[in-house]
Amino acid sequence: MPIDADLERTTALGDGIIQIRLPMAGNPMRYVNGYLVEETGGYTLIDCGWKAPDVLAALHAGLAACGITLADVERILVTHFHFDHYGLAGTLMRAGVAELGMHRLDWNFVSLILSDPVRSDNAADEWIARNGLRVESLLEDEIDHHRRTELAQPTRELEDGDEVGRLVTVWTPGHSPGHLCFVDTKSGRMFTGDHILDPVTPHVGIWHDVRGDALGEYNASLRKVAAIGASGVLPAHGEPFADLERRVDELLAHHATRDAQVIAALRAGPRSAGDVARALPWTRRGRAFAELSEAHQQFAVAETLAHLENLRVRGVVTRDREADPIVYTLV
Ligand SMILES: [Zn+2]
Ligand SMILES: [Zn+2]
Repeated sequence: MPIDADLERTTALGDGIIQIRLPMAGNPMRYVNGYLVEETGGYTLIDCGWKAPDVLAALHAGLAACGITLADVERILVTHFHFDHYGLAGTLMRAGVAELGMHRLDWNFVSLILSDPVRSDNAADEWIARNGLRVESLLEDEIDHHRRTELAQPTRELEDGDEVGRLVTVWTPGHSPGHLCFVDTKSGRMFTGDHILDPVTPHVGIWHDVRGDALGEYNASLRKVAAIGASGVLPAHGEPFADLERRVDELLAHHATRDAQVIAALRAGPRSAGDVARALPWTRRGRAFAELSEAHQQFAVAETLAHLENLRVRGVVTRDREADPIVYTLV
C-alpha cells in the first residue's frame, strides 16, 4: 500500500536524493513527488507541486526535515508544465530560488495557455466537441486549475542531453510536448516525471488541433528511456521502483492493446473519436464510458484521439475533417 502522505512525507533515498511528497488535495493521485538532489553548492528540486498554501507548507516542512531551507535550493527543474509539477515555481522564485529549467516547447505552450486561460479552455472544449463529445459543466474544474498555477519564465531552456549539475536531461515528448526526464549520473537512477508511472498509465491525449502524433512521440520516448536504461525509477506520482524495462514493456503492450480495440471499434464503419471512446472499456477496472465523469470523458476522448491520429500517421485509418463531428475510417 502507498505510504500515507501525511504521516511520512519525506524519504531519504540514498546518494543525496530526497523524496518530498507534496499534497494534491482532492485528487486521486494524492501527491506529487518533489525530489531534492544534493549538489556541491546546494540542492536541485525536481518538480514543485501546484500553487497552494498546503503545498508550500509541505515543502518547507520537508526541507526542514532534511535540515535545510529554501535558501539551500539553487534551482528548480520541472519535468513538464502541468500545474501539479510547475504551479508553485513562481512563488519559489519570488522567495529567492535563482534558477528555473524547463524545455522550450513546454514553456512556449504554457505561456500561450496562461496568456488567456479561458480562451484556451474553450478552444480545448470546442476541439473535443468537434471530435464527438460536447460537455456542459466543466468551468468550475478549469478555473480551479488556473488558481493553482502561474506563469514563471525559465532562466534556462533545457534541451536533450543538457547537463545540469549531476543530472543529464532526456527529452521525452508525449505526455507533454516538452516533457523531460533526468538521469542522475551519480546513482544511475532516472527521474521520469509523468512519462513513466506505476501502476498508473500516464495520460497521452490530443487536446488541440495542432498537437500532432502525441502517442507516436510517447511510444518513441518509452523506447528511448529503455535504451538509456536506469538502475531505478523515480516517478513524479507514486513510489520509486526498480525495473524501468519491465514498466516500459507493460506500457508499450497497453498501447498496442488499445490500438487493437480502436481498430475493432472502427470495423462497423466510420466513427468519431467520441463514438470510438464510447465503445472502449475505461480505467483499470474496465468501466463503461457512460460511468465516467464529464471531465474523465473528455480525457477518454483525448486519449482515443491520440490512438486514432497515431493510426492515421501509420496509414491504418483516414480522417474526414469536413464531417461534423470529425470521423475516422479504416483503410
Ligand atoms: Zn502531467
Ligand atoms: Zn502529474
